Formats: sequence, structure tokens, C-alpha cells
Amino acid sequence: MVLGSRGYLMKITNIRACQPPCNSPADWRTSLGQILVAIDTDAGITGYGVGGGGAAGIHIVRTVLSDLLVGRVPEPVESIWDDMYQATLPFGRKGVAMMALSGVDLALWDLRGKVAGKSVAQLLGGPIHAVMPTYTTVWDHIPTAQFGRHRAFKIHLGKMTDAADVGSFVDVMKRARDRVGPDVALMIDAWMKWDVPFTLRFAERAASLKLDWIEEPLSPDDFAGYAELVQRCPIPIAGGEHEFTAAAFAELIERRLHHIVQPDVCWCGGMTELVKIYRTAKAHGVRVCPHRGAEIWGLHALATLDPQPLAESGRPWMTWVGGQPAIVDGLIAAPSGPGFGVEIDEAVCGLAHEKNAE
Ligand SMILES: [Mg+2]
Repeated sequence: MVLGSRGYLMKITNIRACQPPCNSPADWRTSLGQILVAIDTDAGITGYGVGGGGAAGIHIVRTVLSDLLVGRVPEPVESIWDDMYQATLPFGRKGVAMMALSGVDLALWDLRGKVAGKSVAQLLGGPIHAVMPTYTTVWDHIPTAQFGRHRAFKIHLGKMTDAADVGSFVDVMKRARDRVGPDVALMIDAWMKWDVPFTLRFAERAASLKLDWIEEPLSPDDFAGYAELVQRCPIPIAGGEHEFTAAAFAELIERRLHHIVQPDVCWCGGMTELVKIYRTAKAHGVRVCPHRGAEIWGLHALATLDPQPLAESGRPWMTWVGGQPAIVDGLIAAPSGPGFGVEIDEAVCGLAHEKNAE
């Protein structure tokens, strides 16, 4: 698998990273937003991945992770992941460093697929879903333009004031339920702003609305609160987009702190970790519904490993990742091309300039 086209042992020659231009919200998602990682090899094959962490993430890729990987054979990816985790332990484990590591891991998986001539879904065992339903996340209400584009909807309350009372949130969800009708899946994202009593009061008053889940009602660190909610809340509890590593997800799953876990493959440690998370969740009967699952970096795993896929629509600002499949009538399919099947215009992303400067 690691042999170059002329039969020699392929090695990593360069690792590049940049933060491509995008129109993300004017918050941490711009300042510490998505980074593109490219891993070049002496076989002339380049793997691409997307991680996070903005300039801080780029710095980690260009220093510690590049020092670790340049000159090395790009396999086995799982062993490389362990080495990257070890090398970033003093400052890493969670957050920006793991977001940066995720981009490198995904680039290694892209490389693995391109060398093998297989899609990532094929590497994982082959797609079991030809198409998968999608949902979209909207602010406060569901725009008419979104009807018909998705099979389910999630209302994100992150822009509502912290002082909003239970009744105002219930009203928002009642209007959303009236809009989509009784048979469409409907979820709510509280964006880590509630506490246990507030969540239980909301769930009691929203019971008739048949919500599919309440997402991140509490801080990701409030394990005691989540343990109580899973026991007492009549609406399923989801979370995990702000958790990192398969080991941390194993704790969420084994302690049953969520009904549904939502790893983000571009943040949680990449495909290497997402595969482990699916495996642990399967063993414990917990559902996985990845954050931004319709984006191409996670879609291959949903197609192959997910018994109940529901792919969250990608963010509109990642326009520089070409080759992302379209959502048609609320359905999406994983592409069959080698690796992730992405097409990156390096000049648009700013990668070409970096390469020329070296
Ligand atoms: Mg969320």
C-alpha cells in the first residue's frame, strides 16, 4: 500500500497548511476556523484534509507535526496518529491541537485511498448506503427555501439571548413543528447554554412536539449533569461536537452520558478516531450522528459504518472543497473516487503560494 508508482517506499516530503478564504461567521469559526492540510509525497501524490484551529492550528501542523512526519512512510495511519497524539500531549489532547491533528489524519486517509485507488468508504469496508437522508441546521426558524432540500431540521438557538425563558424556546419549536408538520424529524441545539433544571422544564413543556433530540444543553464538561439528563429527560440527549478523541467518546458512551454522540471528524481526531467511535458506539447500542456529517470528510464513514445515517448539511462557507456531492431531494451519496474524492484548487486556497515560497 505504501509503495510509490515506481515500486519504492513512498515517503512524506512536505506538509503544508493554510486557512483558505471563507465567509464563516464573525466569531471563533473565522479566527480559529477550518484549515486545509496537504501532505506531499515523493511519489507525486498529495493527500488533502481539513482540520481546525486557524493560525494556531497551522502553526502546530507546520512545526511539531511536520517535524514528526516529513521523511516518514505515510503508513500505518493508526500508528502515526498515536505518535501525533504523543507529540502533542504537553499542549494538546483537546481543542485546537486536536483540530489541527485531525486535518493531518484526514490528509493521510486521503493519501491512503489515492495510493490504493479506493475511496475512503471502500477502505472502510464498502458503502452500505447508496444514498443517505440529510438534515439542515437553521437559526431560530425554517426558511421556506429549505423545504424539500432536506429530510429533517434542527433549530439552533445560539443566537437567542441567554436570558430567554423556557416559554420562548418552546414557542420557537412549536412554530417549527407547525411549519414542518408531524412527520418530519425536528431537533433543537441549545449550544451549551442551559442547565439541568432548565432543560427538564423545557422538555416537559415541549413533550407534545415530538422532538428527536436536544443537542448540547449543557457544557461538555458537565458529566454529572448529562448523566442526570439521560436518566430523567423524556427527549433524547445528543452531544459531542465539542469533544475530542475516541478515548473521550468512549467515556461518554460507556457511561451513557448521551443518547446520541456527534463527533466532528475534522476536530475530534480525524477518520482514525471516528472509526473507533463508531465501533465503541455499536458495542454499546448508542447512535452516532456526526456533526456536519454531509461534508465529504465524514460522509464516507456514514455510508459505510452508520446503521442509521442522518447527514447534517455542510456549512456553506467551505466552498473551496471541490467534489462535494450535491444534496438532491434530501438525499446525498458518498463519491466513489479515490480518497475522499475531493478536488482542491491550491491557488484559490493559498496553498500554491506556500509551496512556491519554500
Ligand atoms: Mg451543535
